[in-house]
Amino acid sequence: MSVFALKNGVLHAEDVALGDIAARFGTPCYVYSRAALSRAFAAYRDALAGRDATVCYAVKANSNLAVLNVFARLGAGFDIVSGGELARVLKAGGDAGKVVFSGVGKSRDEMRAALEAGIYCFNVESAAELERLDEVAGALGKRAPIAFRVNPDVDPKTHPYISTGLKTSKFGVPYAEALPLYRCARELPHLDIRGIGCHIGSQLLDPAPAAEAAGKVLALVDALAAEGIPLAHIDIGGGMGIDYRDEHAPSAAEYLAPTLQVLAGRRERLLLEPGRSLVGNAGLLLTRVEFLKHGAEKNFAVVDAAMNDLARPALYDAWHDIQPVAPHDGAIHAYDIVGPVCESGDFLGHGRELSLRAGDLLAVMSAGAYGMAMSSNYNTRPRAAEVMVDGAEIHLVRRREALAELFAAETALP
Ligand SMILES: *Cc1c(COP(=O)(O)O)cnc(C)c1O
Repeated sequence: MSVFALKNGVLHAEDVALGDIAARFGTPCYVYSRAALSRAFAAYRDALAGRDATVCYAVKANSNLAVLNVFARLGAGFDIVSGGELARVLKAGGDAGKVVFSGVGKSRDEMRAALEAGIYCFNVESAAELERLDEVAGALGKRAPIAFRVNPDVDPKTHPYISTGLKTSKFGVPYAEALPLYRCARELPHLDIRGIGCHIGSQLLDPAPAAEAAGKVLALVDALAAEGIPLAHIDIGGGMGIDYRDEHAPSAAEYLAPTLQVLAGRRERLLLEPGRSLVGNAGLLLTRVEFLKHGAEKNFAVVDAAMNDLARPALYDAWHDIQPVAPHDGAIHAYDIVGPVCESGDFLGHGRELSLRAGDLLAVMSAGAYGMAMSSNYNTRPRAAEVMVDGAEIHLVRRREALAELFAAETALP
């Protein structure tokens, strides 16, 4: 059963009525369920039982310290893409020894910070990055642990903005260049070759492309072993999709089954980098209806959350279920649910059949991933509060931003 369900006619997060959260902390407000985070993590752990595997949560999906801390306590590793994310992981009690560092543009400062923290591995995405890393590690008197992120040229059949494993992608090193790059890495004095990785896209529903990518990566592992370059791990990335509407997303076990079959009998440690599938359905965005506008052509519900709080509808035309927190009788209209931001693209949902009154609370579902993490201060709007529910307990895990904080770093001309 979902952790977000109607009890006594009102929507709850675990044992907490969402109306109580709105009354205490205001709206818009992100609400996360600790139980849902733990369950999503357990699904991976169970699917990987009996294997040497580390689930490295992709921090960019939701980087709140409380979320990171829940996963750290469950023994997760972390996939980071910036020095800022590394700092968050360390602050949240994450184990640097289980951190992998991805991304195409690592700066020297970020490399130094990661080397000093003692991360498990850098996922290197170009020859130029390899040289920079060797130089930075040498200057620190350290050796940098590396894997190449290879681009297996597999079509993940997802939205083009979140498809990352095609030849035309900016991510990873081309498949054909992987072997020469490993030979090059072997010659550099301040590097340790640890493994190999790939990540082919996001919101993937078909398990076949991931298995195909794993097969291509394995062929490289074997070719490298034949040249005397043994690898300790294979990182198959993240990308498993979730249900936003009627996708019928596979479970972790179903999604991983074909990949695990391809990897059967292998001794290398397995790394995974799931983001969305660990947090997406563990969070919702709570918002209040400010005004209803009934027009000749359209009905609008203007709510207090906007594209700066949840960018996915405006950015990807993504669909999020929108549920009334306290459903009531009354005339049902098809509403466009829109925010106060001055952009026509500022919507959370189109044509939703709802019975609404001004002042009603709405829950925008499946907002735990790429929600708060992609939020902005556009229109000088303070970022939302974030709350984590744990049974009947309510924890404010990020207070709402104060207006003055938004321009505290700015100075007018003298
Ligand atoms: C974004 C990203 C992930 C996580 O992707 P999800 O679709 O959220 O699982 C994992 N690895 C890398 C390198 C990424 O860029």
